[in-house]
Amino acid sequence: MKRRISILGATGSVGSSTLDLVRQDPDNWEIVALTANASVAELAALAREFSAEIAVVGQEHCLDALRDALGDSGIVAAAGAQAVAEAAARPADIIVAAIVGCAGLAPTMRAIEQGSTVALANKEALVSAGAIMTDLVKAHGTTLLPVDSEHNAIFQCLAGAALDDVAVITLTASGGPLREWPAERLRLATPAQAVAHPNWSMGAKISVDSATMMNKGLELIEAAYLFPVGAERLRIIVHPQSVIHSMVEYRDGSTLAQLGPSDMRVPLASCLAWPERMDTTLAPLDLVALGSLTFHAPDEERFPATRLARSALHDGGAAPAVLNAANEVAVAAFLAGQIAFTDICDIVAATLEGAHRLPPPADLGAVLATDAQARAAAGAQVKQRTR
Ligand code: NDP
Ligand code: MG
Repeated sequence: MKRRISILGATGSVGSSTLDLVRQDPDNWEIVALTANASVAELAALAREFSAEIAVVGQEHCLDALRDALGDSGIVAAAGAQAVAEAAARPADIIVAAIVGCAGLAPTMRAIEQGSTVALANKEALVSAGAIMTDLVKAHGTTLLPVDSEHNAIFQCLAGAALDDVAVITLTASGGPLREWPAERLRLATPAQAVAHPNWSMGAKISVDSATMMNKGLELIEAAYLFPVGAERLRIIVHPQSVIHSMVEYRDGSTLAQLGPSDMRVPLASCLAWPERMDTTLAPLDLVALGSLTFHAPDEERFPATRLARSALHDGGAAPAVLNAANEVAVAAFLAGQIAFTDICDIVAATLEGAHRLPPPADLGAVLATDAQARAAAGAQVKQRTR
């Protein structure tokens, strides 16, 4: 029996890695929906290659171009945020949520409501919605599998163990391309330097997040919702080689770690085949060639993002959604050359001030309203700092 799969964010880095795995075993898969934002030509080519049922772009003005590109293939074309969400709601055995940013929240919620398995890469959606998303998962009996390499590692190390038995969950961080830069030089980091990740090849936004360490901050919050052991039992350590993807220490002193090449096809394969395993064509780890693995504590003076995220997690309510929205706005402004690298965390910190006084969002609509409000506030912060 073929398994039905939809990929939200099919043209992105995670989307491409997912389709690469599907390409290795085409007889096993039937593609339901593929979505993108505006990459019409790429999306149409993928939809044709995999004979998708429907291809959807987020940008409404791209609909005619998408229709043209799909020609007489018989693949349905649609456009707009609503259409992306509707595509996510189509019945499938597994839906890969790989849109970047809070833009992926509504489609991910629709995918969850559909009740089968959701493989979640889109961490910003979970950070923004928090318990609203995890409650929906429970209400619909959906299986939520973490794609993010750290959370996938933790999921594998937990292997269904009782969270009460967990002493500490340690998220590893590569430290990003600017890890060794002195504080005074960080301000001058260019977008090209910030996205040049030493170990992973990823989309621009998450690459900047890795450079600021906000990626680890978002992941801390993501872990708190996926594995509710309490914030005091979540730790971060810097591990520049990105070989150990995360670890779980149990109360008896045993620590389990998951290791693997720094390639998203490993955690994705674990999600696609779960609870079984599948082949990949990746070269296995060569620990002898690596020789040594190193670890050190994060430097929150030079990279304050993890401290900001921990405080947003502590404040709860609207704070994680505000942190995420402010970061998205600031990263976009940095990539556009409007602000300096270190302005990103300054803008997040300034936008977060007072966030603890906002009412905790009660539903998806309230999360999106909080997100919009925080974007406006962060946008004003960008204006003040624009060079
Ligand atoms: P990319 O930027 O490479 O891809 C993003 C995808 O989302 C593209 O298909 C893009 O379409 C689509 N998209 C962007 N904006 C919208 C929108 N407003 N509406 C609908 N679709 C949209 O990102 P990544 O693949 O790097 O990351 C995706 C998610 O996975 C992020 O949340 C990231 O944090 C997470 N993640 C990524 C990892 C990685 O290795 N890349 C690792 C762990 C997590 P288009 O091409 O048209 O712009
Ligand atoms: Mg990660």
